[in-house]
Amino acid sequence: MFQPVGGMDGIAQGFEREVGDLITYNAKVASLQQDEDGVTVTWEDAAGGGEAQTSTADYCVCTIPFSILSQIDHNLSGDLSNKISSMPYNGSTKWGLEFKRRFWEQDEQIYGGISYTNQAISQISYHSTGYFSDGPGVLLGGYTWRGANS
Ligand SMILES: Cc1cc2nc3c(=O)[nH]c(=O)nc-3n(C[C@H](O)[C@H](O)[C@H](O)COP(=O)(O)OP(=O)(O)OC[C@H]3O[C@@H](n4cnc5c(N)ncnc54)[C@H](O)[C@@H]3O)c2cc1C
Repeated sequence: MFQPVGGMDGIAQGFEREVGDLITYNAKVASLQQDEDGVTVTWEDAAGGGEAQTSTADYCVCTIPFSILSQIDHNLSGDLSNKISSMPYNGSTKWGLEFKRRFWEQDEQIYGGISYTNQAISQISYHSTGYFSDGPGVLLGGYTWRGANS
């Protein structure tokens, strides 16, 4: 298995290195309006407040989750709007547990991978980096998706 060095956000940081000067952070979109000339997005600075601002473009690639987009003022077509409002999302939980030492390696000889359980936590995942180090170490203590346990 291959993993980004330092964790998954290495992917986002890679984009930031290349196009960071094009990114506006903390821009909370409040409105999305399109017509035959293009798209106008109204947003405000979620960190600092201030006046609402608008950006216009020929196209907008919108990746706001539907559960939020459905609450934002937009003029998307009725059919698309209905799909956005009615898309169900699943619950999911994941949590990390930090331990002083990597007992799963030292006592149980487990090096990376996943233990599947029949408990509500579903599964435990182990570090796949830093084998044989003294610690501390973090276990993925559980991972649930769908259903009541999430
Ligand atoms: C606990 C948990 C564990 C998961 N584990 C896995 C896994 O192991 N493997 C896997 O493949 N997937 C996993 N997933 C699913 C995966 O994380 C999601 O499918 C994925 O992150 C969705 O990406 P996205 O870009 O659509 O949405 P998000 O990553 O949710 O991005 C949406 C973005 O929109 C921004 N936003 C929200 N409102 C506004 C607004 N008004 N204006 C501007 N921006 C806004 C948010 O700040 C956020 O940055 C997990 C999800 C959860 C919750």
